[in-house]
Amino acid sequence: MTLKVCKFGGTSMADGNTMQAVKKIIDSDAKRKYVVVSAPGKRFNGDVKVTDLLYACYGELKEKGDCSQSFAKVRARFESIVKELNLSMDIKAVLDETQRRLNEEQSEDFTASRGEYLSARIMAELLGVKFIDGEDVVFFKEDGRLDGEKTYRAISQAVADGANAVFPGFYGRGADGKVKTFSRGGSDISGAVVARAVNASVYENWTDVSGFLACDPRIVDNPRRIKNLSYKELRELSYMGANVLHSESIFPVRKANIPIVIKNTFRPDDEGTSILPISQYTPDGTVVTGIAGKKNFTVILIEKNHMNNEIGFVRKVLSVLEREGVSVEHIPSGIDTMSVVVDSEEIQGYKLEQIIEGIKNEADPDVIRVMENVALIATVGHGMSSSIGTSARLFDAMARANVNAKMIDQGSSELNIIVGVKNEDCEKCISAIYHEFFG
Ligand code: ASP
Repeated sequence: MTLKVCKFGGTSMADGNTMQAVKKIIDSDAKRKYVVVSAPGKRFNGDVKVTDLLYACYGELKEKGDCSQSFAKVRARFESIVKELNLSMDIKAVLDETQRRLNEEQSEDFTASRGEYLSARIMAELLGVKFIDGEDVVFFKEDGRLDGEKTYRAISQAVADGANAVFPGFYGRGADGKVKTFSRGGSDISGAVVARAVNASVYENWTDVSGFLACDPRIVDNPRRIKNLSYKELRELSYMGANVLHSESIFPVRKANIPIVIKNTFRPDDEGTSILPISQYTPDGTVVTGIAGKKNFTVILIEKNHMNNEIGFVRKVLSVLEREGVSVEHIPSGIDTMSVVVDSEEIQGYKLEQIIEGIKNEADPDVIRVMENVALIATVGHGMSSSIGTSARLFDAMARANVNAKMIDQGSSELNIIVGVKNEDCEKCISAIYHEFFG
């Protein structure tokens, strides 16, 4: 039977009205049996997301051992939602118990997870279906990664009765038995995990936009909507800053070839964007699918004559970064040069100096230089591999916009071309590339 798992984001859960819109969507299609929800998001510009209120609760807990002052705001949000929805549930008792547990657990992850817990409890009540707690069915391994096998087994057992259900997103249980969250925005991952566990035919991810756009609408007015994306294209674009969907959410569904569809809760008839395995993917007919950019990278440029002949040179350089616990984003290289691109946040403070010293000592380069404030811009599309002259067009567009490429990296799959530019050229560069390929 065709089954849909629907995940609703924070803006869909923001208040009673938006939750009613969610209910209407679910009621309109019997295949929408399993629902995963985020914590209530912002209701208007300047409003605070419940998860952020909860992180503030944890701040108070740490300081005073009690969080009643900050929790009052969380309490007010949920009480007003239940009132707007006219539900008979005893939300006061649920909130009292939650507050008691916050004080008892004194844990950041537990505190942050309560937004999803409470919104899922309310949504289950509104839909009249059962609530399945993330604590009971989502498990992490000792190293912090999802324990897929155990999780999928637990979820399929929990739904074995065939009844519809609501799951809270964002959290599960760690190897130490305590509540643990995914990274921020992680309810998208929870949705994908449930979709995989119940073997859904589609994972619908309901947001407040009608799908992925070919680039950031704050940079280009009205960019083209992307109809179809492959899993790989999605991964490249979301990793590079297109933030409609958490970049980790494809892993659970990819193995089972489950398509993801991005839909808009407030315009449910819009087609949205489908994210598909390559076997089901038909490109939109454009060379480039999308462009995304991220600022604040640091490039370490290393030169050494005859680097290509020196066996183990790259390993020596990378082992320094490994020892410092810094992950590497890209390693563009030439015959006598290599560059290591890292996220500037990872090497703040003394770490950069230690890395430079380490590379000097261990790899003995002729020259080592650092370039900071670099933005990386990824131009992504399966169409690029079969069309000659794509990079020429891209660099020509950059030249016309007077943007200098400080670094170039083309993935061997020809799925993307990444250029490094000065932070301040980031928007100008994205706009130039967009207009070159989309007119
Ligand atoms: N509520 C969490 C956050 O704000 C998780 C999510 O919404 O996906 O990050």
